[in-house]
Amino acid sequence: MGSNIHRPGPETLAAAGQLIRDGQLVAFPTETVYGLGADATNSMAVAGIFAAKGRPRFNPLIVHVPDLAAAQKLGVFSPMAKHLAAAFWPGPLTLVVTRVAGSPISDLVSAGLPTLALRVTSNPIAQALLRAADRPLAAPSANRSGHVSATRAEHVAADLADSVAMILDDGATTHGLESAIVDATGDTIVLLRPGAIPIEALESITGTTIARAKGHASQPTAPGQLESHYAPRAAIRLNAASVEMGEALLAFGPAPLAATGPSFNLSRRGDLIEAAINLFSALRTLDASGAAAIAVMPIPNEGLGEAINDRLARAAAPRA
Ligand code: AMP
Ligand code: MG
Repeated sequence: MGSNIHRPGPETLAAAGQLIRDGQLVAFPTETVYGLGADATNSMAVAGIFAAKGRPRFNPLIVHVPDLAAAQKLGVFSPMAKHLAAAFWPGPLTLVVTRVAGSPISDLVSAGLPTLALRVTSNPIAQALLRAADRPLAAPSANRSGHVSATRAEHVAADLADSVAMILDDGATTHGLESAIVDATGDTIVLLRPGAIPIEALESITGTTIARAKGHASQPTAPGQLESHYAPRAAIRLNAASVEMGEALLAFGPAPLAATGPSFNLSRRGDLIEAAINLFSALRTLDASGAAAIAVMPIPNEGLGEAINDRLARAAAPRA
């Protein structure tokens, strides 16, 4: 046991970088908590993160990059976003920005949102991994769903040893509190999650009062209940046994329902990982077809099917 925990030297880091490029998961330290990292441009690898967390949900993930220049290749930085990055990066600040057009980042990373949460950590091992992998890393906290965040490599091993290819050990993390998340997509900055940087420190840099987001899941009881989660315009009808007039079809499996209108099969061969990868682009495509409603075939509630059904149930819930 614990054999995939490594105190990283240059060779281990090179091997870890290769594992990331091969689509494997590597846990790494940051100044806040340990992250469960995967190549953010590889949808299969990102799906692996959700599967590894157990009882998964498609919460949007933070993407780690080595510096501001790398971040600006992925997201649109306003002057204020740049100003915050210059003041706090590397450090425990996550900036939510609009994705650049033609972004190489997997749809699954931001759960279908047009935005991206970007962070530059100061941890030297994480920085070395980013350079060795030569890929942006999608990384939620390296714990199983519902467990507390891991602040030591041993915590990661206890929760995730079977699903991570390697755990990079840097002892105890220094903050043990997650990064502060700020929405920097608009003219005014909004605090989405309080974290290791106090709001006062952010305000002293912006020179303004920063609003706190209402209803954001900063409370551990309601993770992922983000108001900004992608919601289709069309109504969603779950567990459909037939397709009605004017409905589009979101199908799953080798025997799709008969449909005369627009349809999209999440996975013809009934593969839940493939379905997860297709979910957000499928919803967007069917929504754009102009159908008033989307009939969704039943999806098995196992493995990533649970996360798919969670996301669909939220999309089908009555709108405020
Ligand atoms: P964790 O990785 O466990 O620290 O959680 C990541 C946090 O970042 C979650 O609270 C997400 O809701 C938030 N997040 C990630 N991407 C976005 C985004 N594009 N917009 C808003 N919040 C985001
Ligand atoms: Mg977490």
